[in-house]
Amino acid sequence: MSPESKFKLTYATMYDPPEELHTRFDEALAHLKAKFGQEYAMIINGKEVFAKEKIEDRFPANTDVVIGVFQKGTADDARAALAAARKAFPMWSHMKWQDRVALIRKAAALMDERIYEIGAAISLEVGKNRMEGLGDIAEAADLFRYACSRMEANDGFVAPMAKDPLIGFESTNESVLRPYGVWLVISPFNFPAALTGGPAGAALVAGNTVVMKPASDTPWTTRLICECLRDAGVPEGVFNYVTGPGSSVGQTLVDSPEVDGVTFTGSYDVGMKIYRDFGAGRWVRPTILELGGKNPVIVSRHADIETAAIGIVRSAFGLQGQKCSAASRVFAEAPIYDALVHRVVELTKNLTVGDPTERSITTGPVVNKSSYGDFQQFCEELHQSGNILTGGKILTEGDYAKGYFCAPTIAELPYDHHLWQHEMFVPITTVGKVNSLDEAMKLANNVDYGLTAGFYGTDDEAAWFFDKIEAGVTYANRGQGATTGAWPGFQPFGGWKGSGSSGKNSGGLYYLQLYMHEQIHTRVRKA
Ligand code: NAP
Ligand code: MG
Repeated sequence: MSPESKFKLTYATMYDPPEELHTRFDEALAHLKAKFGQEYAMIINGKEVFAKEKIEDRFPANTDVVIGVFQKGTADDARAALAAARKAFPMWSHMKWQDRVALIRKAAALMDERIYEIGAAISLEVGKNRMEGLGDIAEAADLFRYACSRMEANDGFVAPMAKDPLIGFESTNESVLRPYGVWLVISPFNFPAALTGGPAGAALVAGNTVVMKPASDTPWTTRLICECLRDAGVPEGVFNYVTGPGSSVGQTLVDSPEVDGVTFTGSYDVGMKIYRDFGAGRWVRPTILELGGKNPVIVSRHADIETAAIGIVRSAFGLQGQKCSAASRVFAEAPIYDALVHRVVELTKNLTVGDPTERSITTGPVVNKSSYGDFQQFCEELHQSGNILTGGKILTEGDYAKGYFCAPTIAELPYDHHLWQHEMFVPITTVGKVNSLDEAMKLANNVDYGLTAGFYGTDDEAAWFFDKIEAGVTYANRGQGATTGAWPGFQPFGGWKGSGSSGKNSGGLYYLQLYMHEQIHTRVRKA
């Protein structure tokens, strides 16, 4: 966006962007296409590091296209990154916090400047539609700035405490929050910018140094963010970027005693393994886990059906259902069930599936072969046990043949079916009829997850919903998205139960503190 533009891009405003966003996205896309196939290094201790083996990053809408070649790093690279971060820690943590904030703000400004190029890269790498791609990097920049603003608002987290009542002596007491050391950040494929920017931004502002490992499906976006940090002048070794398989590079990082804290965003299974492995260390270290979701939407008989249907479809199929916040379960009261489901199905059929970089496309492919296979397997189960109202198949005709395209799917399913519990992470949402809001709430809470939730109904009902629902991010009567579209500073993002470990949401008031431990300074003098 040009500086003079008053438009603020968020996931809630992206449905109606100014024309300029499209023209500049198209220019950036053409520029990136000219660079397809280029090789990118890891960045360790400020140096470009290459590995013997490579990872090909392919366009999920046309897998013939290699968008970039990345390094299949090894355990040695992981150890080198940790050593670099350890070496840089004394310098970075002793820098005045105002100077750290200035560097991180500068990196955020570079992300703004490069928003079209990075947004287009995200669209190509993940398969997000263009507005979702732009939103992801805009969110990352805002997460950087949000961490800075919390440091400023708390004056670097140095706070005077009360004087204790000594006889003949005088004391001053002070609370100081200080960084832990080397922070490991492991991110998932679906928000490669925001889920790098949120944890890494907070860790860096707090004074930790960082080792970052992105998902193997999405190394490019994270590399582009590293370049913003590097070009902003963040000193070498402070932020290290390693790529390679989670099972080798990732596991080496998790198992290392050189890690002082970790933020992992990804699936429940990998997250719980990291929690247990990390727990084998010599002492307890901070472990911030942001895991999966199975997010419910409850629709009351008093709801505005049009708003509910729009919000549900946006949240069910944004990024092809591959958001941790995706609306994957809908419970609607019997009197409006048919009308709501009819409208949801109609809107789902209107979605445009195709090349996600194209302006007219709402719905791209799923990210990789494994997700494509999952979709087909779930559809088979739905055909057997449920009632598919729309979708239920992969798309393979014409231009679809070379990508992982799936028809957005709405299905009814008996409540005892295991897919009501399982995070599918593909474009499938199940709908069910309920006889009361209490019944809906019981079903909604009957999962291990507790990430986001949506409600449509009266204000009084909404107050009841907020009180009863077990989830970290909850919305009432939001047409911009029933369960998705949180933004730093507006809707801090984090989960309860199996969806998260810290109980404090990213982009919120209490998040930055997770990256620091408290030290009390008591000074005593003779009165
Ligand atoms: P994933 O398969 O769990 O992978 C996440 C990251 O962990 C990747 O970088 C992966 O590397 C790495 N990894 C895998 N095994 C590892 C190991 N043994 N040790 C260390 N690292 C390891 O998740 P995903 O498929 O990328 O993302 C989807 C999941 O993320 C969903 O469950 C979604 O709900 C969740 N998510 C949660 C939030 C939230 O805020 N709560 C936000 C977004 C996504 P490789 O790619 O190399 O395997
Ligand atoms: Mg890829």
